[in-house]
Amino acid sequence: MADRLEGGCACGAVRYRLNSTPMFVHCCHCRDCQRQTGSAFVLNALIETDRITLLSGRPEPVPVPTDSGRPHLIHRCPDCRTAMWSDYGGRGVLRFVRVGTLDDPSALPPDVHIYTRSKLPWVALPTGVPAFEAYYDSKTVWPKASLDRRRAVLGTG
Ligand SMILES: [Zn+2]
Ligand SMILES: [Zn+2]
Repeated sequence: MADRLEGGCACGAVRYRLNSTPMFVHCCHCRDCQRQTGSAFVLNALIETDRITLLSGRPEPVPVPTDSGRPHLIHRCPDCRTAMWSDYGGRGVLRFVRVGTLDDPSALPPDVHIYTRSKLPWVALPTGVPAFEAYYDSKTVWPKASLDRRRAVLGTG
């Protein structure tokens, strides 16, 4: 699996590898993600920052406004500006990797659909994947191994 988890930006300056599968994969249909991607939803793989190996290039953090007021940095290729991953909440140790930048984005299908209240009406959700109107309680949805990993990097719940 992990050898499928390489990706990069549009111009090729930034290349990276995920050293393990992510903790969880979000398909987020919120309005912020729609605006920031110019698309119907975003695909975010949640993974520890130290499990991302940069093979070339160095993404630059770009701050974006949020409704909550909490910091959101989108790390972009300094040359072509492709969005590579996000840091929500200024935590540093956790990244939300844009699954579409993988060489094989089919490697990481969504584990959950969130903010479906603003899902575009022509997007049909698959059966068997949890879906939530807004955010959700990860403690009841994530596998224990993923919760343990998150606790290990965040030091809390
Ligand atoms: Zn680039
Ligand atoms: Zn979102």
